[in-house]
Amino acid sequence: MNEDYSIIWKNFLNQLKELVTSSSINTWFKNCKIYKIEDGIQDNRPLKKITISVPSPYIKDALEARYLETIEELMEKIFDKNCDIFFILPEEIEKQTELELPKMNDEIANKPLNNPAPVENITSYEQKIESNLIEKYTFNNFIIGESNRLAQTAALAVAEQPGKLYNPFFIHGKSGLGKTHLMHAIGNYISKNTNKRVLYVTSEKFISDFTSINMRKDTSYAESFKNKYRNIDVLMIDDIQFLGGAEKTQQEFFHTFNNLYDMNKQIIISSDRSPDDLKLLEERLRTRFSWGLTVNIYPPDIELKKRIVKDKMRGYDVAQLVGEDIIEYIACNSENDVRHIEGAITRLYAYAAIMKPQKIDLEFANDALKDYLKNSIYMDSNISKIQKAVADYYHITVEDLKSKKRSANINYPRQIAIYLCRTYTDESFPKIGLEFGNRDHSTIIHACDKIKEDLKNNNQLKEIIKEIKNNIG
Ligand code: ADP
Ligand code: MG
Repeated sequence: MNEDYSIIWKNFLNQLKELVTSSSINTWFKNCKIYKIEDGIQDNRPLKKITISVPSPYIKDALEARYLETIEELMEKIFDKNCDIFFILPEEIEKQTELELPKMNDEIANKPLNNPAPVENITSYEQKIESNLIEKYTFNNFIIGESNRLAQTAALAVAEQPGKLYNPFFIHGKSGLGKTHLMHAIGNYISKNTNKRVLYVTSEKFISDFTSINMRKDTSYAESFKNKYRNIDVLMIDDIQFLGGAEKTQQEFFHTFNNLYDMNKQIIISSDRSPDDLKLLEERLRTRFSWGLTVNIYPPDIELKKRIVKDKMRGYDVAQLVGEDIIEYIACNSENDVRHIEGAITRLYAYAAIMKPQKIDLEFANDALKDYLKNSIYMDSNISKIQKAVADYYHITVEDLKSKKRSANINYPRQIAIYLCRTYTDESFPKIGLEFGNRDHSTIIHACDKIKEDLKNNNQLKEIIKEIKNNIG
């Protein structure tokens, strides 16, 4: 498969995993690939025609019948365009190849992929299905910063000594900050290093398992529920806030909790809020949660976001085309939810796979992400207000500030404007650089340092800056 297509296909599978069980992926998608992508027009709007090669007519029928909509939706998300999906069989490809293309030589056809597969090793994931652990979430790829350091350290301690240190272990924080990732990391660590039985479930799964006993009124079913939830060494319940309101299930969870706790089995719970704020949960459960250790994951700061962006980009061929400025641009303009950061990278890469740029510069990134990130580089921002105030004060034009002119009567006001942008807006260095005639990162930093230094003993400059600030409007 064309390497660019393989990146898109892997992104696609990765997202599909959120919607479809891994055994379905294994059965239906394993030997499929993107065969070609063409541009088309439909109702005057651009359209991507995506042809997926499928191994057999049987699979083709199944995909058409069951998954067509899902495939289309995901591809539309990836390309941000309408997509039409087609399937092609090996014999059809053969015919087409004979007609139009010179034969691919074996070397190209068998070329190994340089990119790591985000969908890692579906078979080994299958083997662990009874624990529900997702192997790709590990401590190794959990990036640490000030906001999650405590949670990560405690999680590792729990993983090293399950049932002994912090029981229960309660992680809370807003959506997308890594709670589920840390839980799986603990689970994977324990399963790898010990023979302990680990079970990860979402609270919805717990509720549905429990409700189905009640519906069946079948004692053997109740037994199997007990076996499943009590015959283990580590129980993890994700997003426990959803137990709120489900009173019977809460009672059952209470018994399960006590049973495991009394046997020194590790219990790990996550929630989007602290135990005290879980108002819909019974008091006796909330009290139990506070017996162990409760940690909070806070939203990431820019430094952590940058490290996360870098780490998530690693390993893809296109990553070589991405500089620090793009990393900062994504980190500064994405939301705190790490899924949003991942989405930005997927889009950027999918766009790069189609456009095949020589270099991914800010303009390219902005084009790819303008509808996705909160601040498009070109949005009329506070930067332009500051530029206007400075230009007015010095009787020059905003174009002068953005120009290449280096005479002192322009250069100094430009440095003041840059300083003001950095100090009074939350714009990143690259973005400020771009707004000042695409100047380099280092020029922007230098300008800020220069003005900061001058301000230390130049009272006149202090007055000027005060006046300009008053005029920013
Ligand atoms: P939550 O359960 O808190 O809503 P998740 O654990 O599902 O969040 O995280 C959402 C996505 O962000 C996952 O793909 C996860 O791998 C990633 N993620 C979150 N925090 C980090 C981090 N510190 N390092 C690396 N990836 C992270
Ligand atoms: Mg989660």
